[in-house]
Order: sequence, then structure tokens, then C-alpha cells
Amino acid sequence: MTDFDGLRAVVTGGASGIGLATASLLAARGARVAVLDLNPEVPAPLRGFRCDVSDDGSVTSAVSAAAAELGGVDVLVNNAGIGAQGDVTANSDDEWHRVLDVNVVGMARMTRAALPHLRASAAAAVVNTCSIAAVQGLPNRVLYSASKGAVYSLTLAMATDHLDDGIRINCVCPGTADTPWVGRLLDAADDPEAERAALAARQPMGRLVTADEVAQAIAYLASPLSSSTTGTALSVDGGMYGLRPRPKT
Ligand code: NAD
Repeated sequence: MTDFDGLRAVVTGGASGIGLATASLLAARGARVAVLDLNPEVPAPLRGFRCDVSDDGSVTSAVSAAAAELGGVDVLVNNAGIGAQGDVTANSDDEWHRVLDVNVVGMARMTRAALPHLRASAAAAVVNTCSIAAVQGLPNRVLYSASKGAVYSLTLAMATDHLDDGIRINCVCPGTADTPWVGRLLDAADDPEAERAALAARQPMGRLVTADEVAQAIAYLASPLSSSTTGTALSVDGGMYGLRPRPKT
């Protein structure tokens, strides 16, 4: 018997990186898991559903199909997200709207669609993938940071609103994690090795976070074992948020 036995989980962005690690971990711990992603191809026992979190019709039909297949939804992991780079002048209005639509409104759309199922669950939990960028000033990440700051705030507000529904709502704040996304960023850098070393050195532990480490934190917050925990942000960042070690010379 494990903590997720009999529970039904939906993971957005679950076809890659942190989402795939999370979906796989929840399944290994006993959950039936649906992955909602632009790319619905996921390994068994995960069940893939094509979904674009920036399209309300796509979200409502994918949530209904997933809930029908799983027999309900107890756990929602709002993980799908996209990046943006540059200072405040770097992105057009269209790009601002696109990133906020996926990263912020996407979580609202998904939660809204899943709410009737979550209300019917005795072990309801929502976990949002936020970021260290919500709470620390990182260079050249204005738009992305604004989106994750909004995720942080909507997590707290939603956690308050759904106390009486018995739905716990938390978020994780990863530091730079070694996922295909970061791989793409490194590939685009002038000197990928130097860029990787700089990102690793920025985190006090001196290395990137792994997708599996973030998945473990998400699973903790999604599990009935954390039943008194709501409205929190759990850092998985190698100490980046709270620690200021002396620079190594
Ligand atoms: P990834 O690119 O490896 O995976 C993202 C997944 O989301 C992909 O499968 C993609 O198809 C899916 N997706 C993208 N847009 C979508 C949409 N509109 N609808 C449905 N699915 C969509 O990325 P990752 O690094 O695993 O990031 C996952 C989450 O973690 C994101 O929210 C990201 O902001 C957050 N995060 C990542 C890092 C990092 O360093 N990798 C750090 C902090 C937070």
C-alpha cells in the first residue's frame, strides 16, 4: 500500500522534464495518471491527452476525457509552462500575452475545469510549478519572472478560497533544473559549457537541480501525507532562495 493508491492525478506538461518525472513518480507510487500536454505521447502506464492550456475548449474537453478515463480527479499538477528571455524591452505585447496566457491563465483554466472533480474528492490537492524567478531578481527574465510571480500569488489566493472545499493548494519553486528546456537554452548559448557552469555556480550547492528532485517535492505536496500543508511554496533550488555562502575563490 502506498500513499497514492486509488488516487487519480492529472499532470499538465507531463510529456517532458519536471512534468514527466512527476507523472512517472505518482504512477510508481500507485496513482492512475493522465498527462495533458501539447504532445500526448507518454510511456505506459501514463495516459496521454492532447491539451493546449492556452485554449479553454481544449482544456475543458481534455479534463473531461481524463476524468472519465481515470474515474475522477484527486490531484492536479499545473506544470505546463514556457520561457521568455530578455529585459523589459525584449518582448512584444503579443509575446507578453502568449507567455502569461500559458503560464498563468493556463493554471486558472485547468483548475477551473478540474474543480468539480476536486470538490468530489476526499484527498484533493493542487500543486503549481512556480520558480525561483518568482521570488529572486534574475537577469534577463522579466516576462518569465512576472508570470511566475503571478503563479505564486494565485497559489496563495486559491488556497484560501478552497479551504472549505477541502482542496489543498501549494506550489514548488525550482531553481535551474536540468530538463530538456534548459538543454535547449544551453544549446542556444554562445558557449554552452560556460553557460551551464555559470547556472550551476549560481546555486549554492554548485549544481543544477534534477527533474526527479522537483518531482519528489511535488509528490510530497500532492500526497495525503501532507494533509495539513496548504498555501506554501516549497523551494527546490540548491539553497538559492535562502542562502548566501561566501563566493569560492
Ligand atoms: P519542458 O520544456 O521540458 O517541458 C514542458 C512541457 O510542457 C512540454 O512537454 C510541453 O509540450 C508542455 N507544454 C508547453 N506548452 C504547453 C501548452 N500550451 N499546453 C500544454 N502543454 C504545454 O520544461 P520543464 O523544464 O520541465 O518545465 C516545466 C515547468 O517547470 C514549467 O512551468 C517551468 O516554468 C517550470 N520551471 C522549470 C525550471 C527549469 O530550470 N527547468 C525552473 C523553474 C521552473
